[in-house]
Amino acid sequence: MSVKVDSERVSDEFLQEALDECHLNSLRMALYQQTKDPDLARMKIVPHSRPGTPFLNYLVDRAHHDELKEKAFRYLTSGDLTPAPAPDKKTTLELMAMFQGGHDLDPSAAGYGYEELAFEEFPREAKWKGVVPKEALKNFTVTIIGSGFSGIMAAIQLDRLGINFRVLDRQSGIGGTWELNDYPEARVDITTFLYQYKFVKKYPWKSYFATRDELKEYVDHVVDTYGVRDRIELSTKLVSANWDAATKEWVLEIEGPDGTIETHRSNIVISAAGLFSTPHLPDIPGIRDYKGKMFHTTAWDHDYDYSGKQIALIGTGSTGTQLMPDLARRGAHLTVYQRTPNWVTPVRGYHNAVSAGIRWLLDYMPYYANWFAYNAHVAQLQNQAFHPIDPEWQAKGGYINEKNDQLREGLTAHIRKKVGDRNDLLEKLVPDYAPLARRLVVDNGWFDTLLKDNVELETIGIQAITADGIISNDGVERKFDLIVLGAGFKVSQYLWPVKYVGRDGVQLEDLWEKDGARAHLTMTMPGFPNFFMLYGPNAGTRSGSFHSWIEILVRYVGNVLTEMLERGAREVELKQEAYETYNAELDAEMSKMSWESEKGGGGYYVNEFGRSGVNMPWTLAEFYDRVKEPDFDDFELN
Ligand code: NAP
Repeated sequence: MSVKVDSERVSDEFLQEALDECHLNSLRMALYQQTKDPDLARMKIVPHSRPGTPFLNYLVDRAHHDELKEKAFRYLTSGDLTPAPAPDKKTTLELMAMFQGGHDLDPSAAGYGYEELAFEEFPREAKWKGVVPKEALKNFTVTIIGSGFSGIMAAIQLDRLGINFRVLDRQSGIGGTWELNDYPEARVDITTFLYQYKFVKKYPWKSYFATRDELKEYVDHVVDTYGVRDRIELSTKLVSANWDAATKEWVLEIEGPDGTIETHRSNIVISAAGLFSTPHLPDIPGIRDYKGKMFHTTAWDHDYDYSGKQIALIGTGSTGTQLMPDLARRGAHLTVYQRTPNWVTPVRGYHNAVSAGIRWLLDYMPYYANWFAYNAHVAQLQNQAFHPIDPEWQAKGGYINEKNDQLREGLTAHIRKKVGDRNDLLEKLVPDYAPLARRLVVDNGWFDTLLKDNVELETIGIQAITADGIISNDGVERKFDLIVLGAGFKVSQYLWPVKYVGRDGVQLEDLWEKDGARAHLTMTMPGFPNFFMLYGPNAGTRSGSFHSWIEILVRYVGNVLTEMLERGAREVELKQEAYETYNAELDAEMSKMSWESEKGGGGYYVNEFGRSGVNMPWTLAEFYDRVKEPDFDDFELN
């Protein structure tokens, strides 16, 4: 299909501005795909990372900027912007090398990276290998728990395979975490161009870091475009699931919107219940005696006007830090109770809108959107370099590894710059553990707000909550109209509060009693046939995007299901040996990561047994290799 673009539609000035603003290396790649101009291939590429940030960018050398923009201008005003045919895999790999100007490609390039470019319509898809087993599909049902990004992905994939499914969600709206979290200023802290499905093309994002409302619009767009909305049953929760070995089905107790509980049967259960779905209400003495207004960040009372009020905020993770500027702006006074400082990083353009010019390029310049998103992926790959402990570096007096220590210096310099001569704040704000040994928090105005006259940072600890306010460990009581609980989520309680009972009565507590939640490749467990988790135990990847990983995990689950049905089996169960081997490898590798060392920062990265039940130790390429397709030797199929 040819794409004729009337050059009158946008002025020359508009185009020039767009070209001045755009990511030139992405533009270069897109233009090369269209024109094959050898000059573009020869341009010098300079790796660049801003000091104190974890992100690496491959930039076009300044010497070529004018020439590149001129060529692009000529092309964009030619009137015909019909996309050249999408390159095959071999050519794509050559293009990826060209993007980096010949600098070494990460080992992930050939697999995960190739899929990130998303030249295919549906880059990560499970497919039937042979003829669709229509008979086997009759009376075969999958129940998906949760309608967040994972549940929606599973729904779309199953729909494409023609497998019958239903989605249950206990909330009254779709979107999972983005339905639950509607506190002020909620927005994603990873660029939207990474935080999106790769099969949804050119979604017209308004912001580089989408707000909660924009993400909800995206969710609506996806379920409507892919026709799965009417398969989602809201205000409907799974209460219990019992494996019936005789029929090879799960027996589900499901509570509907009117509170009645019905029993249903399902061949497969996919839990996409999410990691951050159960709020943690801090167990502070006296919390129930408080008479003022109090709510957790997931239960924001939008009818309560806190203008001019005395406010306390407990908890300074990503959530508390993000919403705190709003509390200070509107309230008369804000006291922030911080138990452990977090590393808070500046992110350039965090509140920026996508300009009309960039939107035009994303829409009309063939393949610019692909390379622009790919650039975000390549930049983010750098993250994983900060996690492993380097014993040689430590022997020389280093803290974690060279890069991590550089990052630490950069982030410390940022705090110093921000707080100026407020040494009292500096002492309270610089963590004594390594960056990324806990989740990095994005600066949404945190430091600037702490400097305001009506804001106080309290770090001495909370002794108790009283009827009127909070007593800190120094015995000082402060009175508050509103206490906001930004105390996070019960992340170790995977699948809670659903009671799952597997083969021979086995329960999750039995399997996980030794040291908390575990799984094989984050998805399956022995004793729980026909059961899969999306974003289950140890699913916190070291790099890559949430949506991409969910696409990959759903493809894996889809491929297990197609294999099972094509073989005529009705039951698939992980072997005990596969579970144990995987977890032994995981433990060995995990001990090399900063968060499990004495330089770690605790928080939800480490569970009550001292191990990480949420993160994984694998690099992006290593985990991709393990999950790109199922190894059927790991399973019993009957
Ligand atoms: P969190 O990171 O677990 O932070 C919870 C906070 O509450 C911590 O500061 C914790 O202190 C404090 N706390 C807990 N119990 C306490 C107690 N009894 N007394 C005093 N303080 C207490 O939770 P979160 O901030 O909700 O973030 C959870 C995750 O959600 C993030 O890591 C991120 O993955 C995601 N998230 C993302 C975004 C985004 O993309 N923009 C925004 C929000 C959240 P300690 O540190 O001392 O335990």
